[in-house]
Amino acid sequence: MIDFSHFNSIYELTSYFNTEDKCRRAIFESRWNKHDVVCPLCGQHHCVSRTDGRFHCCHCKANFSVTVGTIFENTKIPLVKWFLAMYLISCHKKGISSVQLATDISVTQKTAWYILHKVRTLFKQEDVILSGVVECDEMYLGGRETNKHEARKTKGTQGGAKTKIPVFGMTMKWKTEDVDKETGEVKEQTHTYEVAKKVADTKASTIIPIIRHFVADGSTVVTDESSIYNGLNEYYNHVFVCHSEKEFTVGSFTTNGIEGFWGHFKRVIFGTYHFVSKAYLERYIDEAVFRFNTKEMKESDRFGYMFGKAMGTCYYKDVKMSVAA
Ligand SMILES: [Zn+2]
Repeated sequence: MIDFSHFNSIYELTSYFNTEDKCRRAIFESRWNKHDVVCPLCGQHHCVSRTDGRFHCCHCKANFSVTVGTIFENTKIPLVKWFLAMYLISCHKKGISSVQLATDISVTQKTAWYILHKVRTLFKQEDVILSGVVECDEMYLGGRETNKHEARKTKGTQGGAKTKIPVFGMTMKWKTEDVDKETGEVKEQTHTYEVAKKVADTKASTIIPIIRHFVADGSTVVTDESSIYNGLNEYYNHVFVCHSEKEFTVGSFTTNGIEGFWGHFKRVIFGTYHFVSKAYLERYIDEAVFRFNTKEMKESDRFGYMFGKAMGTCYYKDVKMSVAA
């Protein structure tokens, strides 16, 4: 199994992954545990190697390559360039343009655009269960701003109702205590995990089922005073923070986790892409969420996580999520 923790710089990555063979080996070892090759068509185990580098299934007689079913399937672009592209895309915190990527890995802009599109599919949000303390909030992209919380207003976006796109976000917060190995000092750290979805509207009939889907019963759900959240106390410990009265904290509960995400979200959306069409919004939301959720990871961990997602074998909960009860 390749140890991804070494790859903390582009130099280290490209020094190692400098041949197609090494890249293929990494894919092989990541997807087929203990070298047990599983047929992607019928699920048969222990498929055999062919002399041409591909594999043969003795059950369904299929021949297949190591990249089948991954984002690299049937690609004519060298895997060395794919790996470098994935690294660059994952480590540029606000994303990377196809023009920049084309220059960085020496391909045409059209090819770079294709790679970006493929790699972005890895950002797709996972179906997770949030628990503990979860802050929920909605925001409008490009919508009328007058009714919004002051901190959340976006300048220059006083569009009409037609341009409003509601996005609903949920931030799970948890704390860990890390002991400093040298001083023995205990440091408390707050972690967050975000889920955000484009929604048709912000009516209770739309929002409540989403919360019910993602948030475990008995959790503490923190929202603003909007009436759409009425009734949540049937399932959750529901805490209101009255934004209209400029209230930000109730006891130890705040909405600063979700506020932090909206800030990040706007920087990604407006900082990198300037303009986002409704058709692609879902993808940009997924990308912003991915970058937010992996912001504490080292470059190598983020790349390893992304690589695992490309193989379909890696989930956030396996990498990082641990919820303090
Ligand atoms: Zn088969």
